[in-house]
Amino acid sequence: MAKIIDSHIHLDQYDDDAITEIFNRTTHQLSVISVSNDLDSCKRNLDLSNVYPHVRPAFGFHPEQSLPGDQVISELFSWMELHKEEMSAVGEVGLPYYLRKKHSGIFQIEGYIELLEAFIKFAKKRDKPIALHAVYDDAPIVCNLLEKHSIQKAHFHWFKGESAIVRRLISNGYYISFTPDIIYEREIQDIVRYYPLDRLMAETDGPWPFEGPFKGQPTHPAMILRSIKALAHIRKIPSEIVQRQIYDNTVSFYYN
Ligand SMILES: [Zn+2]
Repeated sequence: MAKIIDSHIHLDQYDDDAITEIFNRTTHQLSVISVSNDLDSCKRNLDLSNVYPHVRPAFGFHPEQSLPGDQVISELFSWMELHKEEMSAVGEVGLPYYLRKKHSGIFQIEGYIELLEAFIKFAKKRDKPIALHAVYDDAPIVCNLLEKHSIQKAHFHWFKGESAIVRRLISNGYYISFTPDIIYEREIQDIVRYYPLDRLMAETDGPWPFEGPFKGQPTHPAMILRSIKALAHIRKIPSEIVQRQIYDNTVSFYYN
């Protein structure tokens, strides 16, 4: 029985039947880190973690959406403070790369940076790891903030970026995770080829759908086994060793 941890999934975005299916019909020993998009999403992830012992919830506000007002933000932070013991990590937080690209020229990033810094300070104060959405040009901005607050435990999920920023993440000891698109995306293969093996985790970002061999399939954490095989092939290391290493990395990042 394979031991798998999906280090980044939006379990709250699946309906109840799909979640039952994920946990009851799998032959693997499966655990997940379920990240949140907003306060309602945090509440559902917390409820799920009470029903399913293998769910660990992360609380935050997904950056790829309109900025909430001050009232909404302060409500979220008060709720997080109240539930800090049940909280495995701060996440999903970061900067809105894709949203900004869509609205190029008329987009104000400052409010997002300010909100992210508030989450970073929370993570620091409460000694929680942080699950980040920060790709391409946004990654250096996020790195500056993490360095400013001396954050050690940072996880850049589904990371994509130029080699200069990849080197900076490596030298800071940050973790990145790869999704099932490692099987068919050259850009991802090129990063995981040289990223330190002890700083890698696997994820699905489910229910996000994938292409290639996964086209048309609902995203399931068991897809990680295929991703790990792809990584083993790229690194020319036996699959069982890679799987064990990825598992241990995720335990040391999220379970300590
Ligand atoms: Zn996500």
